[in-house]
Amino acid sequence: MWVNWWGGQQCRPRRTDRPLDEAGVVAAVRRAAERGHTLRPVGSGLSDSALALTDEVHVDCSALTGIVAITSDTVRARAGATIGSVQEALAQRGRALATVPHAPGATIAGAIATGTHGGGAAIGSLSEQVVAMRFVDGTGRVRSVSEDDPPWAPHADAALDALRTGLGALGIVTEVELRTVPAEVVEAREEAVGAEEALAGGGPLDAHPFATVDVHLPTREALLRWAGPAAGEPEPAPGGPVEALGRAVTRLGHTASAQWSAQRSRPAPRWEGTVTGTAHELLPDPHPLRGGFTEWALPREALAAAVRELGAATAARDLEIRRPVEVRTGPAETGWLHPAHGRATGWIMVRAHRGDDHDPLFRLVGSVLEGMGGRPHWAGRHPWTAADMKLAYPTLPEFLAVRDRLDPDRLFGGPHLEALLGP
Ligand SMILES: Cc1cc2nc3c(=O)[nH]c(=O)nc-3n(C[C@H](O)[C@H](O)[C@H](O)COP(=O)(O)OP(=O)(O)OC[C@H]3O[C@@H](n4cnc5c(N)ncnc54)[C@H](O)[C@@H]3O)c2cc1C
Repeated sequence: MWVNWWGGQQCRPRRTDRPLDEAGVVAAVRRAAERGHTLRPVGSGLSDSALALTDEVHVDCSALTGIVAITSDTVRARAGATIGSVQEALAQRGRALATVPHAPGATIAGAIATGTHGGGAAIGSLSEQVVAMRFVDGTGRVRSVSEDDPPWAPHADAALDALRTGLGALGIVTEVELRTVPAEVVEAREEAVGAEEALAGGGPLDAHPFATVDVHLPTREALLRWAGPAAGEPEPAPGGPVEALGRAVTRLGHTASAQWSAQRSRPAPRWEGTVTGTAHELLPDPHPLRGGFTEWALPREALAAAVRELGAATAARDLEIRRPVEVRTGPAETGWLHPAHGRATGWIMVRAHRGDDHDPLFRLVGSVLEGMGGRPHWAGRHPWTAADMKLAYPTLPEFLAVRDRLDPDRLFGGPHLEALLGP
C-alpha cells in the first residue's frame, strides 16, 4: 500500500520500480509497455491530489538523487534530488534558487510537475526557472529539451513549456536544469495588518521580494511575513561559501503580535522580531500541517475580493477553517498548464487537519474561487475535469498535441489524468 505524506491519498500498485539511474527508468517504461501496464511516476508523495495514484506500476523516482553540475548561473540535478538538497548544494557555491516554496522535501521533478511556487510577486515558480530537462517518453526513448533549442532542433517537438508543468503525463523526468541567482542574506519580519491593506494591489505583497499573508477569515486579521535584502549585510562573494549565513539568524527587534498564537486558527507569529539569514532557511513553514489542502490561482486583481468572498461564503454556511488561509502572489508563467499561465496571480491556500472531513469546505472553496477565475494548484484537492481545463487553459490544445507525440499509447495514463486531460 502506498500513501502520500499525510495518508490522505492511497493506492495499491501491482508493482513498484525504484530506478537508480536513467537506464533503470528506460527499463521500467519498456517493461510496462511490453506487459500492457500503465505507470505513474512519483517523487516524495507530498501532493494531495490523485495525480500520482495508480493500481498498476509506480515508478518511484526518489532514488535518482544527486547534483549533476553547477555552472555560474544554473544547477543541473537528477529528478529525485530534493529541493532542500539542491538549495544546500547551491548555498555552498554562493548561489540559490530564486523560488522558495515550503516544501524542501519535495523532489525537484515532482515539484516542477505540479508547478510548485513560492511567494513573491516577481519570482516565478520552480517550473519557470527550468532551462532544460531530460526525460524518458512513453515509447522508452530518452529525450532532452532546452530553452535554447531552435525550432528545427530534433527534440523541439517536446516543447519545454509543456514539460514545465507536465503533471507526470509526458514522460519520466530524469534530470532538470534550473536557473540560479546569487545567494543573499535577507531580513525577514512579520507584521500584524488588516487583510484589506495586506492584499491591496501595489501593497506589501507587491513591495517585498518575498511575501506571504496569513488571513483569519472571520476577523480579517492578517499576518504579513516578508523578506528582502538585509540592510548593511555584506553580499556573499560570488562563488564563495555561504554556509554561515543560515547559522547567523539573529533576533533584532519585536514587531509581531504575540497574542495571535493563543488561538490556533489565527495567524501565529513565527519569530520574536526581525531575523536574518538565507531565504530558504527562514521562509519555509517549519511546522507544516499534516492534512489535506486545496489551493487556487486567481488573477492578481481579483485576490482581495476573492478572500472577502471566501470569508462571506464560509461564514454563511458556518464552515470552520481551522487554520489561517495562506495568500501569496507570483508573476505570469509560460508553462502551458501552469495555474498562473499568462497572468499575474494571487494564490489562496486552505488547509484542513488530518481527521477533519474537508470535503464540504474544499468544495465550497473551489466553487467560490473558480467562479472568480481561479485555477486549481495541481498538488491540491480539486474537482476539475477536461471540460474545466478547456475553458481555463488556452494552451491546452498545444499541451495535448505534445502528449500525443510523447505518449501516444498513454503509458502514463490513469483515471485522474484521463478525467483531467481526456483519453
Ligand atoms: C509541507 C508541504 C509544503 C508545500 N509547500 C508548497 C509551496 O510552498 N508551494 C507550492 O506550490 N506547493 C507546495 N507544496 C506542494 C508540493 O510542492 C507538490 O505536492 C510537489 O509536487 C511535491 O513534490 P513530490 O516530489 O512530493 O511529488 P509527488 O507528490 O510524488 O508527485 C507530484 C507529481 O509529480 C509527478 N512526478 C514525480 N516525479 C516525477 C518525475 N521524475 N518525472 C515526471 N513526473 C514526476 C507525479 O506523477 C505527480 O504527477 C507543499 C506540499 C507540502 C506537503
